[in-house]
Amino acid sequence: MLNSLTITQAHDKLKTKEISSVELTQACIDRIESIDTKLNAIVHKNYDKALANAKRIDEAGAFEHPLTGIPYLAKDVFCEEGVPTTASSNMLRNKDYVPPFSSTTTERLNAVGAISIAKANTDEFTMGASTETSAFGVTRNPWDTSRVAGGSSGGSAAGLAADEALFSLGTDTGGSIRQPAGFCGISGIRPTYGRTSRYGVMSMASSLDTIGPFAKNIEDLAILLEAISGKDPKDGTTSSRPVPNYRSLLTGDMKNMKIGLPKEYFVEGIQPAVEKAVHDAATVLQNLGGELIEISLPHTKYAIATYYVLCPCEVSSNMARYDGIRYGHTVSGAESLLDYYEQARSEGFGPEVKRRIMIGTYALSAGYYDAYYRQAQKVRTVIKNEFDEAFKKVDIIISPVSPHVAFPVGAHQNDPLAMYLEDVFLTAQVMAGIPALSVPCGLSADKLPIGLQIMGPQWGEETILKAAHAYEKAAWPDGFGRAVL
Ligand code: GLN
Repeated sequence: MLNSLTITQAHDKLKTKEISSVELTQACIDRIESIDTKLNAIVHKNYDKALANAKRIDEAGAFEHPLTGIPYLAKDVFCEEGVPTTASSNMLRNKDYVPPFSSTTTERLNAVGAISIAKANTDEFTMGASTETSAFGVTRNPWDTSRVAGGSSGGSAAGLAADEALFSLGTDTGGSIRQPAGFCGISGIRPTYGRTSRYGVMSMASSLDTIGPFAKNIEDLAILLEAISGKDPKDGTTSSRPVPNYRSLLTGDMKNMKIGLPKEYFVEGIQPAVEKAVHDAATVLQNLGGELIEISLPHTKYAIATYYVLCPCEVSSNMARYDGIRYGHTVSGAESLLDYYEQARSEGFGPEVKRRIMIGTYALSAGYYDAYYRQAQKVRTVIKNEFDEAFKKVDIIISPVSPHVAFPVGAHQNDPLAMYLEDVFLTAQVMAGIPALSVPCGLSADKLPIGLQIMGPQWGEETILKAAHAYEKAAWPDGFGRAVL
């Protein structure tokens, strides 16, 4: 099946004209049409435009770039001109918001001829760890449809794991690329803050949000990261550091690489299968020439609390623009302007978004700013400094992505705190602004994927990709395997 190819496999076939981009795109569309009712990964379809683009690319006939003619899914927060984009929220869905401009990331992909075919489901405005807060309903895990795909980029991860496209795009504010990648048995990378542009991607928490790709293997991930990275004049937080040719640095060699194993990430409560898979992965890396070093990151335990102060603060400010007047959900019969705002926001936002707006507004209020927001910013710096120190001793740090495999749909339904704890291994990196990726490292007894997290110092994407690639080649020479649906 063409839709199950990796990017590099498809590229070879496109280049030799063994297949056309129209055929490849159609194969992905057919796959979505035949299985997505089981998953609910897709929320807006863009088929006509996709097929027209594929046709144009076939006619031009030049497949120089590895992404030319390759179909993908974008999380429902990446604005694309003329394509509905709704953050899977009733706030934007009720009027089917259609952006008049495109995100830098989709523009960059468009410029090299990649083809956007559909929008993928997400937790509402990317707030969640299971894609259950979406106004479109939950996305299910292709490995076991009674389980969640993870979140918030659950649609992008599940759709790719089910071969609905050849790659997908997500956002990671507090784990939303790494966790669903881990739960769905694919790879995903959260780059260094400032490596990729946030322009045109609906914001959740602007100092924490990052844009990144999901792929079927690490080589594809390297190709994608290179294509979307780099300075963007439209996003002042992007860096002008040159973008390496990540793919050329995937040597398979781990010699002299120092690998930190932080004891705080191997604690009670981790599923034994997860702990074993990550330790086995460490052994694979060691056998490839890496040196394992036990380290300690004692402030890790404060990361979640810090994140869940800072993130809602930024959410409360970013969500202010959804007032029902400029765009989004509208109401009638309001008696005053305030009444109008109140009605539009009460009806448009779901419970998780409202919860964060309330927490954030409270933490930022004059009486509590010092106690919560300022304090959390200080802890953030402590966590960052701790990573800086650790990376003087080691080149990469490895850990589980999540303490367990994908959980059943509804497991945390009435317990928002339990949902927040899902991010236990995923928020310290965010505080430090460092890159981290997820690569599959095993299956549990009930055949659910387990993710290995590899973290690097700021701008160390090439090192973590290199280690992940070496690991993947050695541990899964025939590929990790796919969900059977
Ligand atoms: N689960 C985290 C949260 O709900 C992460 C979300 C994200 O990265 N977008 O905030």
